[in-house]
Amino acid sequence: MSFSTLGLAPSLLNAIAEIGYQEPTAIQSAAIPPILRGADVLGAAQTGSGKTAAFALPLLQVLMEKRGGPRKLHGLVLVPTRELATQVGEAIRQLVSHLPSTIKVSIVFGGVSINPQMMALRGGTHIVVATPGRLLDLVEHNALDISQTSTLVLDEADRLLQLGFADELAQILAWLPARRQTALF
Ligand code: AMP
Repeated sequence: MSFSTLGLAPSLLNAIAEIGYQEPTAIQSAAIPPILRGADVLGAAQTGSGKTAAFALPLLQVLMEKRGGPRKLHGLVLVPTRELATQVGEAIRQLVSHLPSTIKVSIVFGGVSINPQMMALRGGTHIVVATPGRLLDLVEHNALDISQTSTLVLDEADRLLQLGFADELAQILAWLPARRQTALF
């Protein structure tokens, strides 16, 4: 299997080649084509299986088609911990750094002052990687509008629930548009 059979745009294939990925992992081969088609996806994969790129590449493809465009939130990635928020956000930024468009990726998590995160969200953003509680706070402070989000990714959804984020998730789901794509890993 080659990345070129998955329906990814040339700029993304270029980025993948520059990063040095030779071929897609199993979860990437299985998840990228349906996510690109706009389908909802449920992906079961271990940590280290390449699932970040499995959902990030399709998010970036849509944003590349708009050449970045106005900073309107396209993808919301919810993760259970601040460590994972940083890891996933930085992995997406690494992909973006190999692309010709300016795509803004914001990383927000609780346990630190909210003000710098509010400042960083000014002027909008394309992709947010967030822990649920802090995301709620930011929406309540009008620092972020999630009502037009196209794609929701729940990364480590099992841990999100184990860690007691069910109420936060229910509130976030209520604020998201009913017509959206959901990818659950
Ligand atoms: P993840 O499961 O998304 O945390 O990815 C685990 C590691 O695999 C990261 O270091 C990625 O950079 C790397 N990786 C992701 N996709 C591929 C691929 N197709 N080939 C080789 N390494 C990859």
